[in-house]
Amino acid sequence: MSQHSKKARRFLADAKRAAWHDETLWMVRCKRDRAAEAVDDWENLRGQASDIKEKALENIPQYIRQFKEAARQNGAIVMEASNHVMLQGYVATILRSNGALRVVKSKSMLTEECGLNEYLIEQGFTIIDTDLGECIMQLRREPPSHIVLPAIHLRKEEIGETFHKHLGTEAGASDPTYLAQAARKYLREQFLSAQAAITGVNFAVAETGTIVVCTNEGNADMGVHAAPIQIHCMSIEKIIPAMADLGVFTRLLARSATGQAVTAYTSHYRTPKPDGKMYIIIVDNGRSERLYHPTGRSTLKCIRCGACMNTCPVYRRSGGHSYGQVIPGPIGSAIAPFRDFRTAAGLPFACSLCESCSNICPVRINLHEQLYYWRQEMNSYRSTPILRKLIMKTAALVLAKPLYYRLAGSLGRFFLRYFPFMLKLPLRAWTRGRKLPRPERQTFRQWYARNASKHTS
Ligand code: SF4
Repeated sequence: MSQHSKKARRFLADAKRAAWHDETLWMVRCKRDRAAEAVDDWENLRGQASDIKEKALENIPQYIRQFKEAARQNGAIVMEASNHVMLQGYVATILRSNGALRVVKSKSMLTEECGLNEYLIEQGFTIIDTDLGECIMQLRREPPSHIVLPAIHLRKEEIGETFHKHLGTEAGASDPTYLAQAARKYLREQFLSAQAAITGVNFAVAETGTIVVCTNEGNADMGVHAAPIQIHCMSIEKIIPAMADLGVFTRLLARSATGQAVTAYTSHYRTPKPDGKMYIIIVDNGRSERLYHPTGRSTLKCIRCGACMNTCPVYRRSGGHSYGQVIPGPIGSAIAPFRDFRTAAGLPFACSLCESCSNICPVRINLHEQLYYWRQEMNSYRSTPILRKLIMKTAALVLAKPLYYRLAGSLGRFFLRYFPFMLKLPLRAWTRGRKLPRPERQTFRQWYARNASKHTS
């Protein structure tokens, strides 16, 4: 059993949690559908976004050069980190050289990937995550389970317990307004006492050297405007060529992520504040390898909307932590083999190949094809259990010969009708939560032979 299956089993043991996790994310997916349907040229917009990202990836060295020049002219200090160790070192050096010990941070999957919080805390800095979901997860010392909704797997009662323990709220309180007010008060104190602010980056515009950060809580703005030092950590694929391209992505991002027409705050950072300093760190951390990989390249188009997670039947029913990766769900499973082939071994198999992720992705990443590709790669490195080999060989034989296929169908119906318990044994995992159907008296072929003439005349 793969690591993913073991962790998914633990998640599913809490049947109530598993059910509302599934329902809540499906609700977000439906909101996304309504928001997308309200836009006349949605499919055209997806195509445009995909083309812009392709163009940016095709010419990435040129656009990064252009971005660096423009950002430096705007007064920013630009650095490049080829891996997570360099990013950690740069941030620590910036903070030390500016005498900044208290740091607020808005949501950034890149800094999660690079273990920045852990490193800075080890080095003696205080670092506070200010996105509400991230803040909850930081207080609980757990990783986020979703890239847009980090605490989606938690009940409000669990959040109440966490706040009671760490923020001193009333015991047993679970009213969302009360808890949000407590978080607001706590975070406001952090913003006002911070000496530096770190943000992630949604888009970096090569033409103007602008950093664009989208949040719903305004926490990136609060941090950047209150602290003298601002540090923006971006990965290379955040580059888009021109300001005119930005609207394509902002229209897609919020609708795909949460079904909103637009995120509450789309902040543009271009110059440092008076008497302040603005640092931009451009991080590679393995992305160049993906850039030149024929299959993995398109994963770099991802705008981190989380829609592929909300729609994925496996993610919704197994929870983000079951993936054991910073980025879970379909996109996480497609990226993970580049980071560590061995630990990612089970992930491409945690997929029904239903294609829902590819159909929903706002930048048209062929996620299901990527996962299928990785399955084949992984199968060539591992031995298949004898029973599975036997089942596959039998299935190949039955599906190749119509006579065997009909015979298998007749046998299946016979056992289903008269000895259903015998089918339940080999299918016991499947039938635990389902009832086997009563088979029809006639097969489709028999029905068709009798009725075809009626329907075609
Ligand atoms: S792969 Fe597509 S759907 Fe999934 S998070 Fe990235 S942009 Fe969104």
